[in-house]
Amino acid sequence: MNEPQKTSSTDNVAVCATKIVGAKNVLTAPEDIIPYGFDGTAAIKQRPLAVVFPADTAQVSAVLRLAREHRVPVVTRGSGTGLSGGSVPVEGALVVCLAKMNRVLELDTANLTLLAEAGAVTQEIYDAADKAGLFYPPDPGSMRVSTIGGNVAENAGGLRGLKYGVTRNYVMGMEVVLADGSVCQLGNKCVKDVAGYNLRDLFIGSEGTLGIITKVLLKLLPKPAARQTLLATYAQMDAAAATVSDIIASKIIPCTLEFLDRKTIRCVEDFAHAGLPLDAEAVLLIESDGHAAAVADEAAQIEEIARKHGATSVRRARDSDEAAQLATARRSAFSALARLRPTTILEDATVPRSELAHMVRFVESVATRHALDIATFGHFGDGNLHPTILTDERDTDEMHRVEAAMQEIFDEALRVGGTITGEHGVGLAKKKFLPAQLGDASYALLKNIKRALDPDGLLNPGKIFD
Ligand SMILES: Cc1cc2nc3c(=O)[nH]c(=O)nc-3n(C[C@H](O)[C@H](O)[C@H](O)COP(=O)(O)OP(=O)(O)OC[C@H]3O[C@@H](n4cnc5c(N)ncnc54)[C@H](O)[C@@H]3O)c2cc1C
Repeated sequence: MNEPQKTSSTDNVAVCATKIVGAKNVLTAPEDIIPYGFDGTAAIKQRPLAVVFPADTAQVSAVLRLAREHRVPVVTRGSGTGLSGGSVPVEGALVVCLAKMNRVLELDTANLTLLAEAGAVTQEIYDAADKAGLFYPPDPGSMRVSTIGGNVAENAGGLRGLKYGVTRNYVMGMEVVLADGSVCQLGNKCVKDVAGYNLRDLFIGSEGTLGIITKVLLKLLPKPAARQTLLATYAQMDAAAATVSDIIASKIIPCTLEFLDRKTIRCVEDFAHAGLPLDAEAVLLIESDGHAAAVADEAAQIEEIARKHGATSVRRARDSDEAAQLATARRSAFSALARLRPTTILEDATVPRSELAHMVRFVESVATRHALDIATFGHFGDGNLHPTILTDERDTDEMHRVEAAMQEIFDEALRVGGTITGEHGVGLAKKKFLPAQLGDASYALLKNIKRALDPDGLLNPGKIFD
């Protein structure tokens, strides 16, 4: 694959871009572009050449043609909340930020679909559906800020993944601009469509390396009639893990099944004041939704299972306010932990559910062996753990230990049949671990697909693989 190189005309690209999107939609001043030099990933930053804010698909297409002409790399950006360095620019890159293409274009109540521009904020999509009595389930913890384009590009998960799946399960179609500026319409409102390869799915989770997603057509569901939130408290982490296994084995699939360890509980409580039990070793936040009678029955069964496995208490949210407070507490885990040390490295190792207790214990042993501060929380129902390393990137010795710890955690996740990332993507942060997971043939196939769609290697170069 040809690597992009900075040419003498590179600096003119920003000037030419103003002719496409207007001067007020191009940033070049150092103080203006610094915020676009990093995302939510710790210790990775790089200043871009310029940032452009297109207003529509035609402008995106023209910007890509311009970049190709000048051989300038392009890094697509939504809100920059990514946790694997996906929207961190490479040197000399043009950042194409979709933040101004943020409209919900259509809510089709006959077909239960919603069409939005890629820069629409996830929460606004949820709210638009909710107002019509409908439901967009994927709810990444960052949904108040993240864009739907970023969610699709990362195939984002969320707290409701166990029952409702991830972003991929709701994408019916999309509009994508390819590296040469051509515009593709992929998918449609049909529930069934097997015409040709499923190109739409190729772009889900492609992390800005294959094209720029400009519109997304989403599937909506009827809004569940009732919800019940429970908080189960444990003196031992193993008991929490056993509860999760037993709930699933009992053929109950709650909407949410989240885990917080002792360190995270204390930190979140100090931050969010949701009444979490400070003496607990672990808590499970569980939500059941659906028909009111089914929810009541499911919640009773879940409570019984939790108590059978030694939960010291099971608290039921009295009303939607208390349920929202508990969900907000869980959503604030990353922000709460980030206050403790200068650098927060949130990992995403995911394992088969049967390996959860082992994996949490393994992470604890890694923390002890490398003298590191690691808190763990995550989507237990999905086997998706977020071991969060609290560190200081200025401390070289500690960062070496962090590297070693991460390597051990990923090696162990792969050894037990897991993955290096359940929802945050590969980006820059995890690309060195990818070959071990994919193996030679799959890794080569991935690169061949990239080469076919982006022969000049201009779209988000250096992400996922070199
Ligand atoms: C507090 C917090 C909580 C989080 N919780 C979750 C969670 O529960 N689940 C989860 O999965 N993630 C979570 N994340 C990670 C992050 O929010 C998601 O990956 C989200 O999808 C990123 O959206 P964004 O708009 O910020 O994208 P960005 O960070 O701007 O970009 C992410 C990647 O997508 C590409 N991209 C963005 N827009 C487009 C587009 N229109 N076309 C093509 N490529 C594009 C970028 O190039 C980059 O590679 C969390 C992050 C934070 C900070």
